[in-house]
Amino acid sequence: MAITFYSLGAAEEVTGSKHILEVDGQSYLIDCGAFQGSRAEADRKNRDFGIPVDRIENAVLTHGHYDHCGLLPLLTKRGYKGNIFATPASRDLASLIMMDSAKIQAHDADFFRRQAKKRGEKFDWEPLFDEADVVKAANQIVGLSYNRPMPIGDGVKLEFYDAGHILGSAMAFFTVKKDGKETRILCSGDLGRSNRPIIRDPDHKLPAPDYIVLESTYGDRRHDSTDNAMEKLADLAKRTVKTRGRILIPAFAIERTQELVYYFHLLVDDGIIPEIPIYVDSPMATNATTIFQVHPECYGEDIHEAFIKHHKNPFGFNSLHFTTSVDESKALNEHTGPLIIISADGMCEAGRITHHLANSIGDPNTTILTVGYMAQNTLGRRIRNKETDLKIHGQWFKRRAAVEEINAFSAHADYFEAGQWLDSLDTSRLKKILLVHGEPKAQAYFKKYLIEKGYTNTEIVQYGKSYEFD
Ligand SMILES: [Zn+2]
Repeated sequence: MAITFYSLGAAEEVTGSKHILEVDGQSYLIDCGAFQGSRAEADRKNRDFGIPVDRIENAVLTHGHYDHCGLLPLLTKRGYKGNIFATPASRDLASLIMMDSAKIQAHDADFFRRQAKKRGEKFDWEPLFDEADVVKAANQIVGLSYNRPMPIGDGVKLEFYDAGHILGSAMAFFTVKKDGKETRILCSGDLGRSNRPIIRDPDHKLPAPDYIVLESTYGDRRHDSTDNAMEKLADLAKRTVKTRGRILIPAFAIERTQELVYYFHLLVDDGIIPEIPIYVDSPMATNATTIFQVHPECYGEDIHEAFIKHHKNPFGFNSLHFTTSVDESKALNEHTGPLIIISADGMCEAGRITHHLANSIGDPNTTILTVGYMAQNTLGRRIRNKETDLKIHGQWFKRRAAVEEINAFSAHADYFEAGQWLDSLDTSRLKKILLVHGEPKAQAYFKKYLIEKGYTNTEIVQYGKSYEFD
């Protein structure tokens, strides 16, 4: 029996997750994510993704984030006809994300074609895939719930365990049984944290793995505790009621928006804050929230206790509104009195949040609350840095709005939490840990940390390099 593992993405970087497990010449693809970052470079890397399509026996999707599912339509476009195993919630979120990507690419192609025409230049950029390719990919997804072992190849079994990262996120556990020998490989996908709202904690009651492929996004970071996030939200809401101002929250449409809604619902229900109008103003976030509503099988104990047991909808309450049309979104500009707007995109680079910022950034009674990662050179990062002169839609604005931040919302385990999770596993058979999905600096720190903790056989996966599993 020959088992090898290699990565064609998320190796010494965080995007483009694509890992391949090869068992006696048959390949299993784990995630098919898009590269993100600098536009031209990401586009080039996405186009030559290097996956040996005709050797893939089955594909597996760990969760619905774009950097894990974004190139599944390209995989099917290039001829892949096999199954794509994913939890039902991941299938739904991935379908939403893939379709959104196809739309954005079509829109970009039109825009750039017009620009090139104006300049009298030749234009030959084509989208990576279109809506029809997304439909094909979505058709190939086979829903596999947590803890339902499934044979997926000759002597190969797959089982999903909850990764506690986003709704439906899973770790992929492979058991390879051949020639009287059993090898167990655990791929963490993106690993979440304990005590998060809505979803469950990362599972640790797994069979003892021989090999662990582990993400390392925050391998050199510690997060704030999740405990005081609600308190801070309550304080800001109360202050806003007093000043009759507004809170603008740029938030990722998936998971972060639903977590905020969930927290506000708890605060209103417990009478801690009054019923201030709260608007979710992002079509993507509204669609994602619908997906959250139809997957109670992914909920943690807290949401069952607070809502489901009492026959209540965790994502619906009197003062919560979901806007649909652009007109409804614009009408919020005229709203008087206290108001909370949750809108995308999370880094303020595009989307309806930019219009709300342009409208309210000069108002001292507005608070901009940042709750997520802000990449360098984004408007969100400049706001978080409390810069006063900000350019929105090509126009300069003076910021008089207050800026606050809550850092407790991260969906990835930090190095300490990942270490704790490892310690909670049965590591009696563990031979090696392979680190993926991290920037070099974070990975170097994490590797050292794990080795000092006693996980002495820890290695950083390099792009394209093969690792033998016995
Ligand atoms: Zn993720």
